[in-house]
Amino acid sequence: MKAAIADGHVVTLHYRLTLDDGSIADESFGGEPLVYMQGSHNIVPGLERQLVGKEVGAKCDVKVPAAEGYGDYDPTLDQTVPRSAFPADAQLAVGIAFQAQDQNGQPVTLWIRNMSGDEITVSPNHPMAGQTLNFSIEVLEIRDATAQEKQHGHAHGPGGHNH
Ligand code: ZN
Repeated sequence: MKAAIADGHVVTLHYRLTLDDGSIADESFGGEPLVYMQGSHNIVPGLERQLVGKEVGAKCDVKVPAAEGYGDYDPTLDQTVPRSAFPADAQLAVGIAFQAQDQNGQPVTLWIRNMSGDEITVSPNHPMAGQTLNFSIEVLEIRDATAQEKQHGHAHGPGGHNH
């Protein structure tokens, strides 16, 4: 066990993510905690940065501006396409992510931002882009990452990658 969070540590924590409108976007309390590797960009940058030095048992609130969270929202990147641009059997819903290619053939993640009749708005903006992220955190466990975890850049074992 380590006393305080630093790069190269595997951290187990509970979190609640509340948006500025008061809605809870995500939370682990009451379920499986999050396990991630500090310093490997497994979590949004502003949260990772502000967790440095937190100790086991710490309960804290961390406010992350959009620029250090899921990015600012750029509406000029949104595109509206007809339903027929998707496979007929595709299950479409607002918030779903899918892989596409940009003009240079590079893979890009797009989210369905809006659906109106036959018109589907797709966007490379993360659904939480432009939002301030208000995290409530409880740090449960901190340990050194193994050599293999450091090589992979993510946590293994319960709550982490299983491969
Ligand atoms: Zn791995």
